[in-house]
Amino acid sequence: MEPLTTARALRGPFDYLAPEGVGVGSLVRTPFGRREVTGVVVGLAEHSEVPDEKLVRPSSVMPYSLPPDAVRLAYWMAQEYCSTFARSVSLMLPPPRVREKTALWAERTGAEGRVTERQRELLESLPRLAGPDLAALRRLEKRGLVTLVPRAQRRAPQHISVGTGKQVALTADQQRALSAIAGTTQHLLLHGVTGSGKTEVYLRAVGAVLERGEGAIVLVPEIALTPQIVSRFVERFGDTVAVLHSALSDGERFDEWLRLRRGEARVCVGPRSAVFAPIDRLGLIVIDEEHDPSYKHEGDPRYDARLVAEQRGVQVVAGSATPRPESFATMRRVVLPARVDGARLPPVQIVDMREQRGALHPVTYQALLDAPKAIVLLNRRGWSNFLTCRTCGRAWECPECDVTLVMHRAGGYLACHHCGHRERIPTRCPDCGSVSVARHGAGTEQLESELASAGLRTLRLDADVSHAGRVLAEFAAADRAVLVGTQVVAKGHDFPDVTLGVVLDADATLRFPDFRAEERTFALVAQLAGRAGRGAAGGRVIVQTISPDAAAIRAAAQHDADGFLAGELRHREALRYPPYSTLIRVVCSSQKPGLALEVAAALQRRLPGSLGPAPLFRLRGRERAQVVVKATDRAAAIAAVGAAVDAEHRRDIAISVDVDPQ
Ligand code: ADP
Ligand code: ZN
Ligand code: ZN
Repeated sequence: MEPLTTARALRGPFDYLAPEGVGVGSLVRTPFGRREVTGVVVGLAEHSEVPDEKLVRPSSVMPYSLPPDAVRLAYWMAQEYCSTFARSVSLMLPPPRVREKTALWAERTGAEGRVTERQRELLESLPRLAGPDLAALRRLEKRGLVTLVPRAQRRAPQHISVGTGKQVALTADQQRALSAIAGTTQHLLLHGVTGSGKTEVYLRAVGAVLERGEGAIVLVPEIALTPQIVSRFVERFGDTVAVLHSALSDGERFDEWLRLRRGEARVCVGPRSAVFAPIDRLGLIVIDEEHDPSYKHEGDPRYDARLVAEQRGVQVVAGSATPRPESFATMRRVVLPARVDGARLPPVQIVDMREQRGALHPVTYQALLDAPKAIVLLNRRGWSNFLTCRTCGRAWECPECDVTLVMHRAGGYLACHHCGHRERIPTRCPDCGSVSVARHGAGTEQLESELASAGLRTLRLDADVSHAGRVLAEFAAADRAVLVGTQVVAKGHDFPDVTLGVVLDADATLRFPDFRAEERTFALVAQLAGRAGRGAAGGRVIVQTISPDAAAIRAAAQHDADGFLAGELRHREALRYPPYSTLIRVVCSSQKPGLALEVAAALQRRLPGSLGPAPLFRLRGRERAQVVVKATDRAAAIAAVGAAVDAEHRRDIAISVDVDPQ
């Protein structure tokens, strides 16, 4: 958590003498105090309050600029998320300290002369990279037969190709969805069941935008986990597609950015930050899996890419099988009610675990042995969730955070999943010396090992696995296998031969003390069901739970998204939750005992009607406390929170503001 208020104190903009040719969005290198920084031109003025002799000129103008609307967008973000212009605009810049890469190319001049056989061959191979034959080419250059010129060289990212470029004829439902998109400039919610062919609709809609000479942005939850959708866009549109993701080098990211900025690429596919892609004449923004929490940024400014998308002034098409209640209530909806191949959604069996011991019910176990290919979701990574001493009851906790440590057996350590603290797996209790240590709550690592000992080929996918793409490809290629993992296994994958989906401990997300717990649980079960039975063989889903009557689980089992969402919205309206109000969460943290709660209390007094102060668990050695504002006048509430935070800012405290917290 970053101390927001110190940044808010640094206002600006600052005045400089305008170099020739700059405009709004131009980037300059400029002296600032003793340093040199990158500056963004936000406006040109006739006069300045700063006396002439104090005005300085930027040291240089950078060879590329932000599109002019980036400046307006950054101002909007700063205000909407109680942040600063500088922090907001920095999200829109290409990586710093990177330049275009150039390489020498050799070209013929047209002049003739006597050459050896070897030289003739060389001349015939031109134009090309000078590279390995540089010395020989230099000799020809001296004689005027060849010129050597530096050319920009693209650092192109590697894509995994999954060979799904096949052209299909649209179904009637897809056709109807496309016409709806083409027939309006309004934002649309594409509510299509899993496997209803939403991606094909996105592809065609983007194709239409390109034909109009405009560009498009396609937002996806996370590229490493959704290589299929990226590969479908690249296969359909080729080099017109720029892909941004976290595994790119700075050079690759820079070049993709520049290709977009220069109009060489017109489509950008990427995670939430791609919403800032510098595309002139933007025509459409697609948000795939719009319910995904990764669209909310967790650093300052805590922006929501779904809201930023709406600020870019073009049509937004947000798609999901399990849309957020907010989108369901407020956006015009286009429905894809059935799977493309006419296949039914798989039947879901709820298995009551209240009387069971162990991770797997016998019904589940048998189903796993019978199914050639299955996906098992368990939202707990590691081997065991927590350890206790059987003799004195000690629980192993993080020294920096008030949470229990998770055991990772393969790595041989206990880890805090909040701060990354690690220690060795204990063999005895440091308090009482007992060697009897109990392990509770099986995680994905243990499940993987259990299934493997039952003779099943098991692959695991969770945050501890570094090559998600490779695991997914291996699973796709296997004839028989079980894919075990956390919620990442439920994300948009399209494996036609998976016939069984299993959710273990479906209650884990329900137990979360959050008004979105129900909706998350529904989405998790429905999305996993979406991975099963996509092929001719059909499929089934098993949900293990100790709350078989929970509304979210029952609705997911009946594939009743509309009923579930209607119920959720009634609930939210009664309790005045979004979309019937705006929530703003203010978190104070401090290393000084008692201070976080004290400042939160002061904030609460300044914000009439706010809830709190409530202490939160300690994180990274800092005590934390929060205040929550629930407001109907969004703009007024944001302004009031900003003012309160400025007034209460003091040393030793960090205050972070989260508008629309997840
Ligand atoms: P969703 O994103 O809605 O879950 P997908 O876009 O992954 O669905 O589509 C599911 C499968 O159906 C994919 O393999 C896709 O290639 C295929 N598909 C999509 N549209 C059609 C169509 N009109 N005809 C035949 N197959 C299609
Ligand atoms: Zn003990
Ligand atoms: Zn910790």
